[in-house]
Amino acid sequence: MTIALDPSTPGQASRHSPPHAGKSFWLRDFGDYSANRDLDTDVRCDILVIGGGIAGLSSAWHSAKAGLGKVVLIESEIIGFGASGRAAGWIMPQFGMDQLSIRKKYGVERSKAAFAYCRRATRYTREIIEQNGIDSDYRSPGLMRVAFDERCVDDLHGLYSTYQDIGVDTVSWLAGPEVQAHYNGNSNFKAAIADTDLGLLNPCKQVRALKGLAEAAGVTVYENTPATYIERRPGGVRVLTPGGSIVAGKVVIATNAFTHQLQGPVGRELAPYQAPVFARGAVTERLSDQQWAEIGWKQGNAIESSLDLFHYMAPTADQRIQFYFIYYGGHPVRSEMEPAVSAKGGDVSLAHLKRIFPALRDVRMAHNWGGHMSGTRDMVPHLTTVGDQRVVYIAGCWGHGLAINHLHGQTVADMLAERSTDLTDFWIVDRQPKSWPMWPLDLIGKQLAWSMLKRKVRRQIRGSIFEGADSDLKG
Ligand SMILES: Cc1cc2nc3c(=O)[nH]c(=O)nc-3n(C[C@H](O)[C@H](O)[C@H](O)COP(=O)(O)OP(=O)(O)OC[C@H]3O[C@@H](n4cnc5c(N)ncnc54)[C@H](O)[C@@H]3O)c2cc1C
Repeated sequence: MTIALDPSTPGQASRHSPPHAGKSFWLRDFGDYSANRDLDTDVRCDILVIGGGIAGLSSAWHSAKAGLGKVVLIESEIIGFGASGRAAGWIMPQFGMDQLSIRKKYGVERSKAAFAYCRRATRYTREIIEQNGIDSDYRSPGLMRVAFDERCVDDLHGLYSTYQDIGVDTVSWLAGPEVQAHYNGNSNFKAAIADTDLGLLNPCKQVRALKGLAEAAGVTVYENTPATYIERRPGGVRVLTPGGSIVAGKVVIATNAFTHQLQGPVGRELAPYQAPVFARGAVTERLSDQQWAEIGWKQGNAIESSLDLFHYMAPTADQRIQFYFIYYGGHPVRSEMEPAVSAKGGDVSLAHLKRIFPALRDVRMAHNWGGHMSGTRDMVPHLTTVGDQRVVYIAGCWGHGLAINHLHGQTVADMLAERSTDLTDFWIVDRQPKSWPMWPLDLIGKQLAWSMLKRKVRRQIRGSIFEGADSDLKG
């Protein structure tokens, strides 16, 4: 990590961090950032939070508001360095991998409870933004899950019926002409499920605003301060960092996809529970008013395709189109945490967008990036004490942690206070996490799942409007 020191204010909140700007469009776009100073002495506190993403900041903020004593947060780089500063910014009521798999695996009742928690999380996120006047470009344009192929319409309708079974009352079914009316009559839209419960925001602005709220509530935040060793001791949990040690009454581990890298006895306990899964983001250049007029899309809603392509796209607040995807340019195995990000994934997504909206033929990609989400073996997020009540571990929301982690912060504060509430009653709380298999079984299993998914996607593309889009790139 290279950090340039600002010579004008030595020793104070003075570090600029331009190297992080390339980590996402949002981190680049939100301008210069002055990180807090790093820890350079030994400290004691009641609550130590490790990790400065949405989960860690929300946990620290709620703990301070709940009067749980002296709260400290340490972040190895700058806050928002992880998935929280690289996410697409969709505030959606999604749980773990996806709601349908949860229903199949855990039954209707648990699936309903999960949905209720997620719904509460999207509302709570909005409440936090509105009540604290946060400027994170939040808007609530909804989501359309779209069939871009007649062959997908029945399956999409099946999904709609499932939503109705579990009481999702924000969705409606749009047949061809109804959905086409939203996009200037574009006949590539065959049918859609419209869901009003989706917000969009700039995740980097959001995470920085949460840091402000946490500090205003009394949390001390140290950046560029990695936890290098974590162990339980009779007098508290001891955490080592390069500049000093911290002894805390209780520790919240909110390092998400980086958790397997933690050292010391506590790190070793947590290592098998989650696996980093690489996901990609990209944004186009700004579209002109004429281009927007040609394609319609006036509602500014997010669009998810019903193919297994992981096509997620939405307009940004500054008139671009952003993508979020895994299939192209992603890799599912635990390896380097900051791999080089090729332009290919973004280019393929753009080629697919042009197949949907031919009027966008001249649009170019402006920025590509990637980051790791945290995958759990059973698709359920982790929110549990580990070993004893002194260590709380929170991770594993896959690609859906933005809203849920705002609410998890409150749940974590209840857990730390050892208070039983409607939040701590949620069935995922204090559930033993499932371990991923040991290497090389782990690697073989993931490669197998990945190649099965790719084969399925290739079948779906054949005969669809996306067939041959890759070759458009060469032309
Ligand atoms: C490309 C992409 C797009 C996504 N899009 C969406 C979306 O649109 N909507 C949605 O809901 N979710 C989305 N997600 C998932 C979402 O971003 C995550 O679920 C969520 O941000 C996780 O928050 P977190 O605080 O748990 O983890 P992170 O934000 O990853 O925070 C963990 C922090 O811990 C720090 N850390 C690691 N090790 C240490 C250490 N040893 N000491 C101190 N600090 C340490 C890291 O630097 C990092 O800042 C996306 C994820 C990716 C990668």
